[in-house]
Amino acid sequence: MHPFSFTKAADTRSALAAGQRGGRYIAGGTTLVDLMRETVERPETLVDISALPLRKVTVTERGGLRIGALVRMAEAAAHPKVRTLYPVISQALELSASAQLRNMATIGGNIMQRTRCTYFRDVTAACNKREPGSGCAALEGFNRTHAILGTSDDCVATHPSDVAVAFAALEARVHLLGPDGERSVAFADFLLRPGSTPNREQSLKKGELITAVEIPALARPLKSGYLKVRDRQSYEFALTSAAVALHVRGGVIREAKVAAGGVGTVPWKLPAVERHLIDERPSKVLWTQAAERAADGARPLEHNHFKIELLKRTVERQLRIVGGTK
Ligand SMILES: Cc1cc2nc3c(=O)[nH]c(=O)nc-3n(C[C@H](O)[C@H](O)[C@H](O)COP(=O)(O)OP(=O)(O)OC[C@H]3O[C@@H](n4cnc5c(N)ncnc54)[C@H](O)[C@@H]3O)c2cc1C
Ligand code: SF4
Repeated sequence: MHPFSFTKAADTRSALAAGQRGGRYIAGGTTLVDLMRETVERPETLVDISALPLRKVTVTERGGLRIGALVRMAEAAAHPKVRTLYPVISQALELSASAQLRNMATIGGNIMQRTRCTYFRDVTAACNKREPGSGCAALEGFNRTHAILGTSDDCVATHPSDVAVAFAALEARVHLLGPDGERSVAFADFLLRPGSTPNREQSLKKGELITAVEIPALARPLKSGYLKVRDRQSYEFALTSAAVALHVRGGVIREAKVAAGGVGTVPWKLPAVERHLIDERPSKVLWTQAAERAADGARPLEHNHFKIELLKRTVERQLRIVGGTK
């Protein structure tokens, strides 16, 4: 580990000031410290933000939900409002990491976590994300777990967060605070596709702090859920996953929110699947036909062709679970 200095911010103002001076925020520390041990990350100053007042879950005036950036994953998953309004968020969190990690790790830290690409974590391998311009060892390497959607010639790594898939499906907004004040960004614009600059992963400005993630109010009743497919049943990142939320009234689907994980360089919203569902009556055939659109535009690599079929089946199964099979 490279030497670094450590400071604990007592309030938001001092955190922002330290962030402006180049300090790196640390919340639960469950992923940043690992990367520092492996010398993938080498911040000179860590700014502990765990004492900031960003630990509330609140219902917004419009009936949406605001989850503070420092709410622990376990707290968010168990919160009664999250469970009842958006089960897809609770389920995505409960299928993430381990109980110990969920007790430490925060919502802000979770969406900021970096890829699990093994070459990214091996400082001897070529990796444009870690070392811009050095190449991408995964392109010709063992790329079984890598992305099939949103890739570029420079990087094919997946975004590993589960709850980010639920946030993408529900069209959440990320609230930010910087020296120029507050702003909010649509979740779809917060995490960046790699393009030719895979080292730039979020649309954060220097020293900006995530304060909360807000999920907009959606028509009720809203049925939702998350399905995660992985190599083993616990403590494993997704090969594919699907977050689905459906509003059915009068026997017809009026709203459909669908996104996939484990397949995209960012959590992958599936508008073609959503469009196929709207104004239709739930049925087994509908789920199959809609899921056929899940892999539109996919570009598989040598070792991950299987993800195309697996993705379609994951989406179909989760549509059936959430929407029923009449
Ligand atoms: C063994 C293992 C298995 C895991 N399995 C899963 C899994 O299956 N699914 C899954 O989704 N995740 C998984 N994770 C990842 C885990 O969920 C993350 O480590 C965790 O959510 C990070 O949160 P943290 O608060 O500890 O972040 P930290 O490690 O403190 O920070 C992570 C990053 O976020 C930045 N950051 C944190 N808070 C803020 C903020 N408010 N504003 C701006 N920047 C901020 C930090 O600067 C840092 O870059 C796993 C992790 C491990 C170690
Ligand atoms: S896929 Fe991306 S993260 Fe992995 S080695 Fe290539 S550039 Fe690095």
